[in-house]
Amino acid sequence: MGDLIFPDEARRSILAAVAELETEEVALAAGLGRVLAETVQSPLDVPPFDSSAMDGFAVVAGAENELEVRGESRAGHPSSEAVRPGFAVRISTGAPIPDGADAVVAVERTESAGDDRVRVGRSEVGANVRRAGDDLRRGQLVMAPGTELGPAELGVLASLGRDRALCARRPRLALLVTGDELAEPGEPLQAGRIYSSNSSALAAQADRAGAQITLRAKVPDDRQATEAAVAAALESADVVLVSGGVSVGPHDHVKPALHELGVQESFWRVALRPGKPTWFGRRGSTLVFGLPGNPVSAMVCFQLFARPALRALQGASPDAARTTARLAVSVTLSPIRLEAVRCRLRATDEGLEAEPTGDQGSHRLSSMLGADCLALVGPGEGELALGDRVEVELL
Ligand code: AMP
Ligand code: MG
Repeated sequence: MGDLIFPDEARRSILAAVAELETEEVALAAGLGRVLAETVQSPLDVPPFDSSAMDGFAVVAGAENELEVRGESRAGHPSSEAVRPGFAVRISTGAPIPDGADAVVAVERTESAGDDRVRVGRSEVGANVRRAGDDLRRGQLVMAPGTELGPAELGVLASLGRDRALCARRPRLALLVTGDELAEPGEPLQAGRIYSSNSSALAAQADRAGAQITLRAKVPDDRQATEAAVAAALESADVVLVSGGVSVGPHDHVKPALHELGVQESFWRVALRPGKPTWFGRRGSTLVFGLPGNPVSAMVCFQLFARPALRALQGASPDAARTTARLAVSVTLSPIRLEAVRCRLRATDEGLEAEPTGDQGSHRLSSMLGADCLALVGPGEGELALGDRVEVELL
């Protein structure tokens, strides 16, 4: 057991092997989830002009008064009239403040005083006026490289007039699932077979982490077939994920195939439960992960090892959000291995509480249903008591 590598050390050696991918222009419409590779500064004031925050009347600020209404400033249609004392311009939300005006009196604080005349309440300079550059000023730093583009980021880029952004290329990922027992969903199930769940779960995790899946294959437990599949994967991808076949059974062909194809091993076997047989290595800049076949182990190891690599390849932070939570159960510690316990988080009066999703067997994929975090427990002696605080990684 002395040759197990600790998960933190495993992660460090993975991240040390990552070289950031090149960049490409991405249309905003295709930008969701992409990672920015440029510094974005505002080329203009947002909003670009002083505008009204309310429907009402643009005035020269002052006491309650009766004014003559001269024209209208509508959103998209500025008024050509300037405002002088004694006059007002009708204005709608988002419309430019006419020259001379320095306040807007909201329509609720006005009443009609006959044709083209209005009584307005008292106003202060600047009332209901949104200044040009209130949101972002021209030249201001808006986003840094490494920012993931979500709905807000895409909206802000659009508000700057940007229709594209420089992003990291998506990592190309090849996904191989190994095992003679594997059947494809949709096929009838023959005796002794199981449906391959790793193909679907790992592909979805990879997609979420920003990868583009360029090759997917089911590989039988056969040395030649494994070598051929891995060779094709190495040609087509930045990251190769192989599930199963990475232990030391007589039908585990992944390690010898990787060795034969010149993939250098960085580590094999991690002090982690589930996920001990995890293998990692590289050939040139191509990263190769041998993930355990057990479906929970595969998902946990993807989260803890492959996801950080995919993020780092794109120049994004490799770290998933972590926080602490109180355990809703007691847990017997493993003396050597870190245990990743699938949990659901609940807000309580004493802060976040992590409740295991049920039996933690690494073949029980249904224990991932509804899991929103991994509680990272141990290693250590004895047990953690109910209510003890542990670190949790959000999924
Ligand atoms: P292995 O790592 O190949 O020894 O597989 C460990 C366990 O995971 C075995 O029970 C396999 O049947 C199972 N397993 C391997 N690959 C998959 C897969 N793609 N989907 C679901 N279970 C799998
Ligand atoms: Mg197998």
